[in-house]
Amino acid sequence: MKKVVKFGGSSLASAEQFKKVGTIIQADENRRYVVPSAPGKRFSSDVKVTDMLYACYDAAEKGRDVSDQLEEIHSRYREIINGLNLNFSLDKDFEIIRENFQKKAGVDYAASRGEFLNGKIMASYLGFEFIDAAEVVRFNDDGTFNDKVTNDLLSERLKDRHTAVIPGFYGAKADGTVVTFSRGGSDITGSLVALAVHADLYENWTDVSGFLIADPRIVKNPKSIETITYKELRELSYMGAGVLHEDAIFPVRKAGIPINIRNTNSPEDKGTLIVESTCRQSKYTITGIAGTDGFAAITIEKGMMNSEIGFCRKVLQIFEDNGVSIEHMPSGIDTMTIFVNKSTFEEKEQKILSDIQRTVQPDHIELESDLALVAVVGRGMKSMRGTAGRIFSALAHAHINVKMIDQGSSELNIIVGVKHDDFKNAIRALYEIFVLTQI
Ligand code: ASP
Repeated sequence: MKKVVKFGGSSLASAEQFKKVGTIIQADENRRYVVPSAPGKRFSSDVKVTDMLYACYDAAEKGRDVSDQLEEIHSRYREIINGLNLNFSLDKDFEIIRENFQKKAGVDYAASRGEFLNGKIMASYLGFEFIDAAEVVRFNDDGTFNDKVTNDLLSERLKDRHTAVIPGFYGAKADGTVVTFSRGGSDITGSLVALAVHADLYENWTDVSGFLIADPRIVKNPKSIETITYKELRELSYMGAGVLHEDAIFPVRKAGIPINIRNTNSPEDKGTLIVESTCRQSKYTITGIAGTDGFAAITIEKGMMNSEIGFCRKVLQIFEDNGVSIEHMPSGIDTMTIFVNKSTFEEKEQKILSDIQRTVQPDHIELESDLALVAVVGRGMKSMRGTAGRIFSALAHAHINVKMIDQGSSELNIIVGVKHDDFKNAIRALYEIFVLTQI
């Protein structure tokens, strides 16, 4: 059995955290390929090393002396090395980094050093081989990611390696220019390594015990989700529940490799297992509740709209031409409502409204802002009677007016639109009915 283990920044922020990681890896000999992030925050007001590198490079680009900034970053690593009693130094690496900063090696190069250096420490601590991601994660000349070449390079390189440390977040073009993924991109590297070595499991270690049924800032001590499918996860992350980088899903999903989100600070917790499909029913009818705020709704009314061929297309075209993405589109016989992100819409509001007037000549247009959407997601809903009934009675009991209802055709989710002021109470009411008073 082979496992790829990725550790996030908070799991590697100090020598103490490194020790926990070491114990986790040593506890299971299948944990063979390790993907580290850069050191993250040690306490809430701390600064991530990646952010320090961005700031430092910015100063270097402006021609300022960055000795102090580099020394501060170096000291973060020194603290880890000394705390682990390693006979190891990054002095030479920092000399090279300083020179490359002077030569303006690029902002991606600068940011990538966080993972590069942490990977070196990790390899030395574990006694594993260090493989520079620049040699095995390939980007095209235009900066886009090349999955095919990466998979070839990674599998070739790891083929006869029993263990290895491959830093996350970056790779390079064929000419060696370093390119990073977007922020949080070490999750992607972990997924790529898992694909390349045909891992049985991709463990993603972070500082929470997996996904929670609802946002802990809204619901007190929500329970965690034991198993979730990729589709459910997509629905929940669209609505704002984030633990994992979205692009990390595709490579492993394609290969049927499950992801297990685990907590470095609480390794006995099972975390959340993300799978393609499962016959394991979730404990509750629903898997999760998520929501996002900040929507506006534009309702267009016109008599005989349903028989006017091309009506919807013309309206949608207006949003497309104005670069506004449509989030949801519930419709009636002579009405259609378009949900959009409020702040993007506001910039184009008057232009869009006049385009609609001119193009489809509606009888009436109504605007409503300050709306929130709440999604109840669960693979179990399909075979369960009364889920919608429970949602609406829970909301009615909480005196919440439902502005919109949208049941996805996959029957995986039911989305309700509510007023911004009712947003949190709606989530609490739904959590209560499905989780706390579950029969
Ligand atoms: N260190 C990078 C960041 O802070 C990448 C990562 O941690 O995944 O975004």
